[in-house]
Amino acid sequence: MASKNLQNIILLYNIILICGLCLVYSKAELPRFEHPIKPDGSLSILVVGDWGRRGAYNQTEVAAQMAKIGDQVEPDFIISTGDNFYEDGLTGVDDPAFEESFSNIYLGPSLQKQWYNVLGNHDYRGDVLAQLDPILRKKDSKWLCLRSFILNTDVAEFFFIDTTPFVDKYFTNPKHHKYDWRGVLPRDEYLFNLLKDLDTALKESSSDWKIVVGHHTLRSAGKHGITFELEERLLPVLQENNVDLYVNGHDHCLEHISSPDSPLQFLTSGGGSKAWRGNIRPWSPEELKLYYDGQGFMAMKLTKLLFLHFT
Ligand SMILES: [Zn+2]
Repeated sequence: MASKNLQNIILLYNIILICGLCLVYSKAELPRFEHPIKPDGSLSILVVGDWGRRGAYNQTEVAAQMAKIGDQVEPDFIISTGDNFYEDGLTGVDDPAFEESFSNIYLGPSLQKQWYNVLGNHDYRGDVLAQLDPILRKKDSKWLCLRSFILNTDVAEFFFIDTTPFVDKYFTNPKHHKYDWRGVLPRDEYLFNLLKDLDTALKESSSDWKIVVGHHTLRSAGKHGITFELEERLLPVLQENNVDLYVNGHDHCLEHISSPDSPLQFLTSGGGSKAWRGNIRPWSPEELKLYYDGQGFMAMKLTKLLFLHFT
């Protein structure tokens, strides 16, 4: 269950800090936000994904455990890796699911922080513009959801990426689902610009830690496995720009996969509600550092070092 402590993973990196002038001006097109860190120079974050089910499938229990751990680690903010509202996103800005799956669920005092959300494929099955609408921020100031954006802190820079439009099958074989592609079409142009803006922003970044957050998996031993469109188009950008972490949801598990050929680490936090699918693909034990096919979330502490705790 969610309260079960699983494993402490400590990744230690020797980082040579190079202090210099930081160019504040950025030519990148992605919206940019700043978030302060703690006075001691650290940053504490909770990461949860694949959660919005009106409290069902243990969503409420996971939220309670987040609040409990949050009391200990005092998160500066919370990241959602998408699939925020099941099964089909929000029907509009007045959809009561916003309160029933978000505002009325994450009630712990330590969770009343800024949530930075990306969209998942299930979110695209509803009124996708509703989740992006500033009206939701008026209803609940914790909420912030954009398609793609940058969050800068003094410890790390986070690059939130809209991954759903990369996946071919949502366009070519949507089955009985209807996806809301307003703002995405023409698709080729959208993806080209997104990758260009990400590449530019990563090249301009002088941050010690570069962390990319998206919904879909790049490396995963779970049900969905590798998202090949991302492997082909996003992964080279991450590798070329020395990204440290790719953090995603989509597979309903907690997972850490390392790279044999680069420092890039892949972290899945998609255990916000329905989980326990019971399937795991064969994966090299050298790379698969953690796999937990159940509910939970991830706590991350960043200083010059990174401390990960899956709960
Ligand atoms: Zn998903």
